[in-house]
Amino acid sequence: MKLELRPHQNKIINALRRDWKKYRTHMIQAPTGAGKTAIAAMIIDGFLTRGMRVLFLAPYQMLVMQTAIRFIDYGLEKPGIVWQRHEWTDPAKPLQVGTVQSQVRRQMPKVDLIIIDEAHIKNKKMLEIIDNAECHVIGLSGTPYSEWLGAHYENLIKEVTTRELIDTGYLSDFEIYAPTTPDLKGVRTSKLNDYGEDYVESQIAEIMGDSKVVGDIITTWLEKGENEPTIAFCCNVSHANYLTVQFNRSGVKTEVMTADTPPDERQQITGRFEDGITKIICNVGVLVAGFDSDVRCIIYARPTKSEIRWIQCLGRGLRTAPGKKRLIILDHSGTVHRLGFPDQIEYNELPSENDGLDEVSAKRKEKEKKEKLPKECISCHFMKDAGVLVCPVCGFRAMTGDNVEADETRELSALKKTKVTKVDKQQFYSELLGAQSQSRMSKKFMSDGYISQLYRQKFGVFPRSLIKSIIPPSVKTLGFIKSRQIAYAKRKAR
Ligand SMILES: [Zn+2]
Repeated sequence: MKLELRPHQNKIINALRRDWKKYRTHMIQAPTGAGKTAIAAMIIDGFLTRGMRVLFLAPYQMLVMQTAIRFIDYGLEKPGIVWQRHEWTDPAKPLQVGTVQSQVRRQMPKVDLIIIDEAHIKNKKMLEIIDNAECHVIGLSGTPYSEWLGAHYENLIKEVTTRELIDTGYLSDFEIYAPTTPDLKGVRTSKLNDYGEDYVESQIAEIMGDSKVVGDIITTWLEKGENEPTIAFCCNVSHANYLTVQFNRSGVKTEVMTADTPPDERQQITGRFEDGITKIICNVGVLVAGFDSDVRCIIYARPTKSEIRWIQCLGRGLRTAPGKKRLIILDHSGTVHRLGFPDQIEYNELPSENDGLDEVSAKRKEKEKKEKLPKECISCHFMKDAGVLVCPVCGFRAMTGDNVEADETRELSALKKTKVTKVDKQQFYSELLGAQSQSRMSKKFMSDGYISQLYRQKFGVFPRSLIKSIIPPSVKTLGFIKSRQIAYAKRKAR
């Protein structure tokens, strides 16, 4: 094996060894980015070198070859692929890789171990196979929260949390802004195989497709997205298309990717994204697994009740990369208010349907959960840890007590007068002048009056006693200008 495991990966393997004889079925929890495939490769290697056979099942076709190639890179021998007609199909190989769907349609091969990737996704026939198999079964998942899992897996192996991976530098940290919280009253829910209970797509698409909500998504990204490579999670295809058109109209090169986008086209889009030609990919349900490009900002525009969906989606942006400080998350769906930070959702056992809590303890649990939820800074929309009063981003101080929002609004206007220093003002003014001088060559020349207006929109007063020095505008300031221009165009259109 050409594989050196990280400390947390070794801990997982050791825990598996410890529990191996005690249970037949194990669920390994490994957060996105913990290196699930490497852990699987290590386990498989142990079996193959002892002459045993392993079946590895992935949830999607796209992941089968990707995983097989990773296994070979790690030093495992070329596996056979479970498929109707594939050039690698060879039932004699000791390692077989396929999808759950292709396997349930076939006779089970004789194997000594079955590994199921993304094992929180429900497939009824597969569950029968797990229950009836005469060998060990290992499920792998970053989110083993599906309510039926405890009925089919006896043992949960959880040796590392998302927060620990962030603190040890294996995952990127994040910050969340929640500029809009849609009203989802009356939206129905339904049960899904991959995410459990969640909002009905057509209903949330209608709410999130509102032109005001979409406009807010665009201005927020221009202000806070720092022009970073971004993926947007949308409700359905028409919602993704609408958002894509609006971003392109604002001059941000954006492409759309859905389940209907053919594989070669997906590859081209991903290529343009990695080259920086495309800034944003608006997707519907396709960038959840197997997308490993460098993502530094996530627009979350798909309201969800599902902790699985929330964590799986945000996981796309938690990979580390050279020069990446943190992931910026712009949540327009109210999800961070509802479910909390992705590293706060942690369970130490598998859920089971028959351990229903009595009403009193269920209510207490609900209350405890609510108290731990992050709170929004009403000045800059940054999501703070529960109990933190002073916003670490803008310095705004929240009040305690029931009528927090009204009090905060009052305090906000007071803050606006005191918080900004003269240096901040000069900096911003000089950047505006920088933007103005850049605009001289374009059709959208910004007059002195317009610059003063922009300044006033930012600080509430016209520029006074400032030096007319010019510095290049920052991405943030350019974003501010653009957001004002769009707001102006919209007012005019009305
Ligand atoms: Zn703030």
